Amino acid sequence: MFFWRQEIGPGRWVAFTNSGAGNLALHVGDKPASVLRRRRELEAAMGIDEGSLRFMHQTHSATAEIVEDAAAGELISADALVSVSGATPLAVMVADCVPVVLSAGDGAEGATAVVHAGRQGILDGVIANTVELLRSRNARNLVAWIGPAICGDCYEVPEEMRREVAAVVPAASATTRWATPGLDLPQAVRAQLEALGVAVQQVSEGSSTLCTLENGALYSHRRSSAAGRIAGLVWTQ
Ligand SMILES: [Zn+2]
Repeated sequence: MFFWRQEIGPGRWVAFTNSGAGNLALHVGDKPASVLRRRRELEAAMGIDEGSLRFMHQTHSATAEIVEDAAAGELISADALVSVSGATPLAVMVADCVPVVLSAGDGAEGATAVVHAGRQGILDGVIANTVELLRSRNARNLVAWIGPAICGDCYEVPEEMRREVAAVVPAASATTRWATPGLDLPQAVRAQLEALGVAVQQVSEGSSTLCTLENGALYSHRRSSAAGRIAGLVWTQ
């Protein structure tokens, strides 16, 4: 069910699922009833109320939205969700893009956020937008966790694309295992977070790789276009 989870402060948890939790996305051609059943099972494993976990309609934008500003049950179109109180459980779905979880460093009272950071979002500033929104609501001492994503050894792109992204985030430049131009999106996200003064915490699960393409216990869009989605999660109990 969980690739990794940790209680980061009293009652506050950060986790990333693996394929044991099953596909959690409604938009990848899976049976809706099956997806909703898996979401309920995930909520039970998290120890939160059924139906309380907030997902978003992700569009590869740089938009960050505050969950408390939306109506209950509204599916928010955004690529980052912020809970100002930290009381609303949040989820981001990925299958190669970078899932990021943030929490203010002042215990279970602080704000939380999840971010869907793909190549376009990284270029367009989804990380900075999220951090700015958190700070505008007085979130301090932000800590971030970067979850499983495709790694720089595996993510091949055309030379022109590598140049375009590296011009904005030099840390994104990579070379694949087979010596072609690549992008290291997790490193790009880390560089952006650290430049914003956000502390990045390590996510690791023994010797298993965080690369979604290499790790068969995770979902990878590049490995299978019919792949499901894993989730990055933050919640308070
Ligand atoms: Zn890899």
